[in-house]
This record gives sequence, C-alpha cells and structure tokens, in this order.
Amino acid sequence: MSGSVAELARTVSDAVAKGFLPAAPRDDRECSRCDYQPVCGPGEWQRVTKKKPADALVPLNKLREMP
Ligand code: SF4
Repeated sequence: MSGSVAELARTVSDAVAKGFLPAAPRDDRECSRCDYQPVCGPGEWQRVTKKKPADALVPLNKLREMP
C-alpha cells in the first residue's frame, strides 16, 4: 500500500473507531454543491470553526494537504 493510501486508511479507521466522523467543510462552496445541506443546515462551515475541537480535525486537515 502506498504512503498516501495507507495514511487515508489509517485516518478513516481511527475516525470510525473513535466514532468521530464530523461534517467539516472547508468553506461554504463545498456545502453549496452538496445534497445533504437540508440535513446539515446553513452555515455548517462556520460552526466547524466554533464548535468542533480543532485538534480532532487535525487528521482530516492533514489528508486534505496531501498531494
Ligand atoms: S452540507 Fe453537510 S455534508 Fe454537505 S458539505 Fe456541507 S457539511 Fe458536508
């Protein structure tokens, strides 16, 4: 397994094990194209910065920065 795939698998596995799979869009553009917006409601990307522990999102952000 390549490094990127292994990191993805490890990150997803850890998130499932912890039961922490948050909605964490980077900005409102992602939500504007998403079919689940009626479920999440407006402004989820703003709530991410205020109500979700930043340290818990580090693995997700690390994945997003990978090539
Ligand atoms: S609407 Fe919800 S599921 Fe869709 S991108 Fe935004 S936060 Fe994620």
